[in-house]
Amino acid sequence: MTTSSTPASASPNPASVLPGTGRAPATSATAPETHKPSAAGDLAAGDRTYIYADNAATTPLSPRALEAMMPYLTDRFGNPSGIHRVAREAARALADARGRMAELLGAQDPAEIVFTSGGTESDNWVLRGSAQLWREKQAQRGDSGTAPRQPLIVTSAIEHHAVLHTCAELERAGAHVVYLPVDEQGRISSQDLERALAHEGGPAALVSVMLANNEIGTVEDVAELARAAHARNAPFHTDAVQAVGHIPVNVTDLGVDALSLSAHKFHGPRGVGALYLRRGFDLPPLIRGGAQERHLRAGTENLAGIAGMVAALEEQIDNLAAAQARVAALRDRLVSVVCNAVPDVHPTGDPVRRLPSIASFACENIDGELAVVILDQLGVAAATGSACSTGSTDPSHVAVAIGAPPASLHGTLRLSLSDTVTDEEAELIARRTIEALRRARSLSAMM
Ligand code: PLP
Repeated sequence: MTTSSTPASASPNPASVLPGTGRAPATSATAPETHKPSAAGDLAAGDRTYIYADNAATTPLSPRALEAMMPYLTDRFGNPSGIHRVAREAARALADARGRMAELLGAQDPAEIVFTSGGTESDNWVLRGSAQLWREKQAQRGDSGTAPRQPLIVTSAIEHHAVLHTCAELERAGAHVVYLPVDEQGRISSQDLERALAHEGGPAALVSVMLANNEIGTVEDVAELARAAHARNAPFHTDAVQAVGHIPVNVTDLGVDALSLSAHKFHGPRGVGALYLRRGFDLPPLIRGGAQERHLRAGTENLAGIAGMVAALEEQIDNLAAAQARVAALRDRLVSVVCNAVPDVHPTGDPVRRLPSIASFACENIDGELAVVILDQLGVAAATGSACSTGSTDPSHVAVAIGAPPASLHGTLRLSLSDTVTDEEAELIARRTIEALRRARSLSAMM
């Protein structure tokens, strides 16, 4: 299989569309003259054949999101906490964004949405806050002698490091953390959860299970898991960072008490996200200071980021049904073409209950990082496991948890498609992936 070295962008208007995203670079007419092109924009201006297939790591800002942000970066710069008209205008915009976000997530009340800096912060807050809340309640009750003396947190072995590393710290501080196992497709069973909760005695401080896995794309049955947690009086949080904007997500249907999301995973800006907190699930404040975010997270709000996030999510949800089916079909074809062409390369994750955008592989006797470097040279941005584990020599904890073949533990590969990827781009990604895996395998054999 040869690799095209000629311009091969299949975008309808290559001059204005970023390859692999189908989106105009976010340097549109709404941006001022001084606006610097994004990294994605630089790619578009440079190698026209380069395709970005690492959308699970981050996505380019959508022009609609940028347009929604611009007023708050320029003339509508008010601080929502003030009294005068500039501040009141900002406060109205903030309230409007909160209401729209609540509606998009199916929340009952805008007050259930707290804006944060992203997924990591939301995850940290709900885990630490739940442990603290449990200790406070325990202290108020007095030690009855029957309840466990340290908070119990139940999570899974395949969570993002934002959850796992926070749990590790809570364990060092005395918490008892149970890591639920997964099957070979990355699924967590509600029976395992029930057993963990029954076995451990008193109500858990929190059950936290992700909605969709960032490395292998498996979508968990969170509604059932939340029911199992509630049957044991345990609050339930889900890290929905990879799911929101990619599959339908409704907090009421899921029955969760808390949900984390992050704008940059669905074409919003980086550095902004939210934590949904069901009314009645009152976490202790994360940051003390002013009265912002109902005293829960002090600090002047990132209004431009929040406006961009809500606009991006609205756009994603408007296009969700059509995009989901089309991208899933391209992903399935990509997976089968690559696995048929290269021996001992296996698809990972649940083949049915999975994110439409993520194609993931366990490749035997291939160094995954080497494959990603070669793919980059061939003109595709990909990832091995999660972006956060890049640079680590340890195998992906997700690959270990699903029991991937030992020879593939260092050979994980993730291609995450944009919802606007074209058929031609998907074809190019497949051809280049096959070539990269073959080259990486022969080089890995020499190492
Ligand atoms: N949770 C999951 C499942 C993720 O995939 C990520 C980012 O990759 C995060 C949390 C962290 O989100 P953020 O980058 O907004 O801090």
